Amino acid sequence: MPNGKGRMGGYGLGPSGECVCPNCGHTMPHGRGSPCNQLKCPKCGTMMTRAR
Ligand SMILES: [Zn+2]
Repeated sequence: MPNGKGRMGGYGLGPSGECVCPNCGHTMPHGRGSPCNQLKCPKCGTMMTRAR
């Protein structure tokens, strides 16, 4: 049986989830230590927010 935790989902969804741009709707995964509110949308430059 599966041992330990984590390994949920399979692709794209890391342990920290995704960020979404409130302006244009662009989403992107972010790693640990990179809060969405410190990232800017690569498309429009708006500060990202957490998608979930
Ligand atoms: Zn954007």
